[in-house]
Amino acid sequence: MSSQNPVFIPGPTNIPESIRRACDIPTMDHRSAAFPPLFERAKTGVAEVLKMDAGEVILFPASGTGGWEAAVTNTLSPGDKVLAARHGMFSLKWIDLCQRHGLDVEVVECPWGEGAPVDRFAEILAADTGHQIKAVLVTHNETATGVVSDVAAVRAALDAAGHPALLMVDGVSSIASMDFRMTEWGVDLAVTGSQKGFMLPVGLAIVGVSPKALAAMETAKLSRCFFDFRDMLKLGTPYTPAVGLINGLGASCDMLLAEGLDNVFARHHRIAEGVRAAVAAWGLRPCAVSPALYSDTVTAIVLPEGVDGNALVRHAADAYHVAFGAGLGEVAGKVFRIGHLGMLTDVMALSGIATAEMAMADMGVPVTLGSGVAAAQDYYRTNKAAPVQAA
Ligand code: PLP
Repeated sequence: MSSQNPVFIPGPTNIPESIRRACDIPTMDHRSAAFPPLFERAKTGVAEVLKMDAGEVILFPASGTGGWEAAVTNTLSPGDKVLAARHGMFSLKWIDLCQRHGLDVEVVECPWGEGAPVDRFAEILAADTGHQIKAVLVTHNETATGVVSDVAAVRAALDAAGHPALLMVDGVSSIASMDFRMTEWGVDLAVTGSQKGFMLPVGLAIVGVSPKALAAMETAKLSRCFFDFRDMLKLGTPYTPAVGLINGLGASCDMLLAEGLDNVFARHHRIAEGVRAAVAAWGLRPCAVSPALYSDTVTAIVLPEGVDGNALVRHAADAYHVAFGAGLGEVAGKVFRIGHLGMLTDVMALSGIATAEMAMADMGVPVTLGSGVAAAQDYYRTNKAAPVQAA
């Protein structure tokens, strides 16, 4: 029997019924007149969600990883130097992708649980008077550790140094759930996927491209074919587009914009605060080392010594048919993750918190049943959700 329970992994996220139906449309000839309006609607909606005033939104039939590759290969040349911090599994994998493409990555190693090291970036950028660094990579929300980084501060560091490097941001687990301002923050390439804040199945890599990045595309020499922005811009759809997902993306943007982006962000923050109240009540702590770094889309919870987080996640799936996120890389086994992004309400969050409590108690973690639930209830009662809008 397949479980009807919501998932609490940090993507793919729960799919609202109206979005699921928007993806499930009869076959359409993407070369017919019916396709361009829904393609435009999706791209315009994404630009609004990204808060992007100029440039292009490009959609590939791929996952977020394809978006990383597209951002890098369309704007850089072999041997180019890029600056990045390694502080979790996703920043690690993006660096690996750059290295495999022959880029010279200056890696700043940071403890997992920290964010992008803005002060160190500022020093490195100021010292790079010859402008050898062609791009700075920031993982806005490190999904492995539940850490948010300050993209605006990295932009400020670039500006203070008068540095022309491109600013590339992985917003895979932040965009459409947490505040993101492409134009205001001077982001040149914003990468996400369909299966997180946009609440769709996996299958679209979504890339916001600034005018400066479009100019870099003209001289970039890394090889690309499937992910070539130029074909996308010239032909619209150089190969068969994921029509159903694109229709779903339009519906998703409509839903997010109808709720209001500020309300979407406030909802994620409120739900996350409830989860964090539960974590404190359990006597545990988030992996993120300080409150300013707490992610509003995922909380990685550090378990007591001797408790295997991956076994805990397996047990929750087997015993209660509820999915939580396992620890990855350096924190594998040491943490488990509660994803709280996308279509989620207080009531759904409470069910996840209750299940985590049961699973932890079963695995010998000394938590008092009901303690986390009560702390979250208390938070949600005193910080009530916005009224539900009429559809
Ligand atoms: N970046 C971040 C921050 C992620 O959380 C993920 C996936 O979870 C990725 C990149 C990779 O995206 P995908 O699995 O869609 O290729």
